[in-house]
Amino acid sequence: MRLRLYQKIIIGFYIICFLVFGLSAWIIYRQTNFNKPLLFYALDVGQGDALLIRTPQNNTILIDGGPDNSVLYGLGDKLPFYDREIDLLILTHPDSDHVTGLVEILNRHNVRYVMATSVVTSSAVFSQWVAGIKKNKIEVVSAEELDKFYIEQDLTLEIIYPREKLSSQDLKSINNSSIVARLIYKDVAILLTGDLEREEKLVGNNFLKADILKVGHHGAENANSQKFIKAVSPKFAVISAGRDNRFGHPSQATLDRLNGVSAQILRTDLLGDVLLATDGNSVWQVTE
Ligand SMILES: [Zn+2]
Repeated sequence: MRLRLYQKIIIGFYIICFLVFGLSAWIIYRQTNFNKPLLFYALDVGQGDALLIRTPQNNTILIDGGPDNSVLYGLGDKLPFYDREIDLLILTHPDSDHVTGLVEILNRHNVRYVMATSVVTSSAVFSQWVAGIKKNKIEVVSAEELDKFYIEQDLTLEIIYPREKLSSQDLKSINNSSIVARLIYKDVAILLTGDLEREEKLVGNNFLKADILKVGHHGAENANSQKFIKAVSPKFAVISAGRDNRFGHPSQATLDRLNGVSAQILRTDLLGDVLLATDGNSVWQVTE
């Protein structure tokens, strides 16, 4: 039996409808898959930081971008292919091991908000970062003027430091301009520290307790004081450092202090990408 042209058109129409409907149903299913945990990745970007957070309602947060473009592969691997949106991109401070990977991120992803401080550097890569924000007309929120950043239901970023404009201050090191923030999901807190070396000054005036600590300054000895680590008392301590890096990060003193509070230490230099998940009540490590 030969089909007439109009019959072929009708059959073709039904096949296309079926495919479109199937694809839409699959995407909606992925988007509304509630009861999903929050995922916290420390991507292995060598000697630098790049932290990726996928929220239960599919918001994406990226904190720092590492020293090169390896963050792009990390994101390609962890994010669904159809999701090119980064809802919040945080630059903790403008050192090259934190900002470099973000320049290409601005070109390849749709970034809704950038959070940063007023501190600038004269490096070429930092100029490219600033130009990328301008070119893509991204809204910049200043961590210096913000107490809290609401992300979605039950998920808020609480800014601990800085509490004032830093651009005119003598910081000794640019590391001391690092944004420190607590990401709070229901009963679970993740403490983000950038490379801050003066974190001991935060103890006493702030509630620092957290289930997960992104260990400061790649585990260097000049950060992560005993007093600070005690105040945080994390269950998991995530260290982002390069394999056999020339700085000797993380230091044995930092590891000893973390062991002293019985934190489970997870290092990107030993494990590659690190993944922790939380339902807002407990936290567990996921090995992929
Ligand atoms: Zn760093």
